[in-house]
Amino acid sequence: MENKNVLEILKKTVDSDRILIDEPMKNHTSFKIGGPVDYLVLPTKMEEITETVRNLKKEEIPYMIIGNASNLLVRDKGIRGVVIKLGESYNHVTIEGTTVTAESGILLSRLAKRIAKASLKGFEFASGIPGSLGGAVFMNAGAYGGEMKDVVTSVTALDDKGQVITLRNEELKMRYRNSILQDNDYAVLEVVMELEKGDPKEIYETIQDLDHKRTTKQPLQLPSAGSVFKRPEGYYAGKLIQDSNLRGHRIGGAEVSTLHCGFIVNQGDATAQDVMDLVETIQKTVKEKFGVTLERELRIIGEE
Ligand SMILES: Cc1cc2nc3c(=O)[nH]c(=O)nc-3n(C[C@H](O)[C@H](O)[C@H](O)COP(=O)(O)OP(=O)(O)OC[C@H]3O[C@@H](n4cnc5c(N)ncnc54)[C@H](O)[C@@H]3O)c2cc1C
Repeated sequence: MENKNVLEILKKTVDSDRILIDEPMKNHTSFKIGGPVDYLVLPTKMEEITETVRNLKKEEIPYMIIGNASNLLVRDKGIRGVVIKLGESYNHVTIEGTTVTAESGILLSRLAKRIAKASLKGFEFASGIPGSLGGAVFMNAGAYGGEMKDVVTSVTALDDKGQVITLRNEELKMRYRNSILQDNDYAVLEVVMELEKGDPKEIYETIQDLDHKRTTKQPLQLPSAGSVFKRPEGYYAGKLIQDSNLRGHRIGGAEVSTLHCGFIVNQGDATAQDVMDLVETIQKTVKEKFGVTLERELRIIGEE
């Protein structure tokens, strides 16, 4: 977006050193894929986010909110407009008794450590998920029997009209890798969670045990965005892909992981198009062989 105005509008609310211009998204995605975004903004305070969004809305400038970009494929042409990244620059946490209140940019791994240190249990499941807290609530991320739905009490969000609202757990309608936030274009600003008192030794042991499971079962040494597909009812996506003889199947630099067939990995020079072509091949093959439709968990954004 060749518009000096956009920069001027952003500078009203965010310091210039936290506005990146023509920034390659591959520097920010866990897939290490993605063309340039016109403006990438890294806010540090809630008011910066709310005011920036309100200004962009008023001027009808396209924008989107992302977290740690660990469930995103950004197209090769990049993104027109503004991306507001709620990441580690927006990560304040307070813990009072068993109640945890955190800004949405904090990484789950860092938050899990803070929570363990406070001798609280119930958040161990999230320690190895490489997302931000906001992205995890948006996706209702989960692993090893736990999901965000079990621990979130309420969320402070910015609604589609630019108003700050509070949504309680039941209002978030969190379900398998989904929440009401996905239907409504709401930004997660802050999250309140309720946990239980626990034994620190046991909490650290559980985290270590889950870490070990992840490192042995997932291709963590290669860039990816985790499981590409949702779990189809009654099946496992990875098993269906493996039984379709697609283990190691490659298009360009994108490959079905040989360690976990539910993952697509970037072997170094994959384009977004390679990944999209591979996704399509997988969906088509699994449908033909087993009659099962694989629905994407991976979110694809950017200019077509
Ligand atoms: C190696 C690996 C392992 C993984 N394992 C798991 C796993 O075990 N379980 C699991 O559930 N997922 C897993 N994932 C996927 C991913 O980590 C989760 O989906 C995570 O919740 C995404 O969070 P994020 O901050 O990276 O979101 P992003 O990828 O940045 O964004 C995902 C979506 O959330 C939206 N979003 C992000 N932040 C906000 C916000 N603050 N407000 C509103 N919308 C927002 C974005 O617009 C986008 O639509 C894995 C990924 C990788 C790479």
